[in-house]
Amino acid sequence: MTLIQRTDCSALDATDPLAKLRDQFVLPSDVIYLDGNSLGALPRATAARVQQVLTEEWGQGLIRSWNTAGWIDLPHRVGDKIARLVGAAPGELVVTDSTSINLYKVLSAALSLARIDAPQRRVIVSERENFPTDLYMAQSLAAQHGMRLELVEQGRATSHLRDDVAVLLLTQVNYRSGAMHDMAAVTAAAHAAGALTIWDLAHSVGAVPVDLNGAQADFAIGCGYKYLNGGPGAPAFVWVHARHVDRVQQPLSGWHGHAAPFAFTSYYQPAHGIARYLCGTPPLLSLAALECGVDTLLAAEPLGGMPALRRKSVALTDLFIRLVQQQLGAHKVTVATPIEAERRGSQVSLIFDGDGYAVMQALIERGVIGDFRAGDRARGDPDLLRFGFTPLYLRHVDVFDAVAALREVLDGGIWREARFARKAAVT
Ligand SMILES: *Cc1c(COP(=O)(O)O)cnc(C)c1O
Repeated sequence: MTLIQRTDCSALDATDPLAKLRDQFVLPSDVIYLDGNSLGALPRATAARVQQVLTEEWGQGLIRSWNTAGWIDLPHRVGDKIARLVGAAPGELVVTDSTSINLYKVLSAALSLARIDAPQRRVIVSERENFPTDLYMAQSLAAQHGMRLELVEQGRATSHLRDDVAVLLLTQVNYRSGAMHDMAAVTAAAHAAGALTIWDLAHSVGAVPVDLNGAQADFAIGCGYKYLNGGPGAPAFVWVHARHVDRVQQPLSGWHGHAAPFAFTSYYQPAHGIARYLCGTPPLLSLAALECGVDTLLAAEPLGGMPALRRKSVALTDLFIRLVQQQLGAHKVTVATPIEAERRGSQVSLIFDGDGYAVMQALIERGVIGDFRAGDRARGDPDLLRFGFTPLYLRHVDVFDAVAALREVLDGGIWREARFARKAAVT
């Protein structure tokens, strides 16, 4: 195979129809940012917008802004924008709380639905390598509901769908390997077996096209600070299919999910529709920042939207994989992510036979920012170097330069220097 040159990459950038979307972001000039799958980059619009909420809406408008600045509608307004990215209809999706908390709500609701429709079903199925918070929440709820959580190997869930399975809880794109489920096919298999589905879209929304209604999914949640660029700790979102939403309540019956919050009645009556998934007062500053992040994705709509972003994402991840294969052959590096583009999200993970944490630290010192995820030692899972590829702001030359930096770190054994071995609190 012919060696890929840097000039090949700059030629691709010169004709990239999405190239101008990068201007929407503040990015340090000496950094190649390959961690937008963990914390998205700062949009240029965010600082001014948050400043406006502070000085005008809060400072001058004070409490009037709940009405006059539309604060009270913001969870729905931003929800409707996110809905466009995931195949949901207006009014079906709302922004609230964190992904963990929303998972708690939808899993509780799904278990309540199952208790009504299929009380003999007592098992929640998920994947052992699902994101830990999803598993921890499922463990807690299984115990509370007297149910059993069954963890199966990645990609094997559909072969565990027996007549005692109530809920299938999956993250569409795995946070470690980047492997992606076919949402429509897996949902159809779950429904054929009589189980409900919950999809965690943390690594899908803004990264790959998602069609919740097309897939007939039951429940979904997703994260605001990864590919949605909402900022650290940005609120998350929740979606419930219209056929279920008014059938069950979620357990965190806070006043914002009430049918009439400002009637101040003593008894809880859930709102109709997705508003019942709200709980307490929304974090306005964070919501305003999240809206700016979501807008950076909607700016791609005239250029082909999520399908166009997906094409570029696949081109970037393909390029990365080919460069790793061409340039790092002498090192013990293997690609842990599916090679077939349709089976992966927008990240590529590498296994390195050595101290992967130190390799990543040495890379970060060179301005190439990815991250490191330790494998569960007891299970023999490998440590991973993770690289996220955000098509909104990455160029093909960035991919080339990142692999060149990785090669430098490995060729020179730079990662062996003692200062790279010390672990920080966040990896
Ligand atoms: C990032 C991520 C979360 C994050 O949950 P928080 O409540 O925001 O900490 C949850 N689930 C998955 C699959 C994730 O990737």
